[in-house]
Amino acid sequence: MNTAHREAILLTPGPLTTTLRTKVAMLRDWGSWDSDFIAVTARVRRSLLDIISGHETHAVVPLQGSGTFSVEAAVATVVPRQGHVLVLDNGAYCKRAAKLTGLMGRKTTVVAFDESEAVSPQALDEMLTADPSITHVVMIHCETGAGVHNPLQAVADVCARHGRGLIVDAMSSFAALEIDARKVRFDALIAASGKCLEGVPGMGFVFLRKDILDGCAGNSQSLAMDLYDQYVYMEKTGQWRFTPPTHVLVALDEAIAQFQEEGGQSARLARYEKNYQTLVQGMAELGFKPYLDPAIQAPIIVTFHAPADARYDFRRFYEAAKANGFILYPGKLTQIETFRVGCIGAIDSVQMQQAVHAVALALKELGIASAAPALS
Ligand SMILES: *Cc1c(COP(=O)(O)O)cnc(C)c1O
Repeated sequence: MNTAHREAILLTPGPLTTTLRTKVAMLRDWGSWDSDFIAVTARVRRSLLDIISGHETHAVVPLQGSGTFSVEAAVATVVPRQGHVLVLDNGAYCKRAAKLTGLMGRKTTVVAFDESEAVSPQALDEMLTADPSITHVVMIHCETGAGVHNPLQAVADVCARHGRGLIVDAMSSFAALEIDARKVRFDALIAASGKCLEGVPGMGFVFLRKDILDGCAGNSQSLAMDLYDQYVYMEKTGQWRFTPPTHVLVALDEAIAQFQEEGGQSARLARYEKNYQTLVQGMAELGFKPYLDPAIQAPIIVTFHAPADARYDFRRFYEAAKANGFILYPGKLTQIETFRVGCIGAIDSVQMQQAVHAVALALKELGIASAAPALS
């Protein structure tokens, strides 16, 4: 395959491959208080609320930084300092959410699930019954560590029944998996520019339930991460409080226009599903085995077992795939050796077929005849 003429395709779950149109949108400078830029901010906020049908119930507040900045800001803004947060943990991003919650001085309880399983709404129900001091629950919609699709609706229903707040990290699912604010009750839901909306990385955004907004004043112990303050200022002036990531925002605006033209969330999900099917079928022919049960696998990122062959070495495998035009992602499981392949970004099943071909060439280069893992 001659890939010298193009840049490598990112099979990483953010940053990811973006369209030329999205990249070209960044070739202009913007004044942060200029009315043209204020209009872009307003349009992006409106479009984001459209995606979850949230205009009635929620406000959306953008924030500078990577996705984690917005998770941290959401917890700091929504949870009072005396609050008690229960984190449903089935992977690396859950552990990160628990860590930042504790670091900000909120009482934190972690309930651990296996990273090969979805979190359990029944277990949550029992924990909320047993401990009335829990004020908020944190869950990750798609646990990007292994790729598990967690049951958002069921978890939200349990929290609503118990009258507890829910904070959802929907970073790697938003705009691909369905999230409808008219059906799912949550206090905060977090996503970012550089994932399934296929923008470039650099800003996150948090949907905050309007009913709780006023109560959020003064919760945050941080100036820069206070989403309530950012919200109030943005409503009043149309501007960001501090220097906005201007190029990231205009790229996101352009990426959202393409998302809408494609047919919105259901069309994006369909494309990612096809990417996922193409990937898993092609990899199976090479002997690779996915780590997760397909029943709980989100079509966002797939964890594969490392081949059992002694000649396998992730670093060399990665470099060989890269030489053939595709960037893979290391695994994030603690116990077993794996690697991950993202299905998201401005790519379709043709690129996924090419990706499988690049992996086949990489195996050949390493002298590996079958990619079958050690277990059956
Ligand atoms: C990408 C991602 C984040 C944010 O990670 P950053 O490196 O801060 O952008 C948070 N949670 C999940 C589930 C993610 O996939």
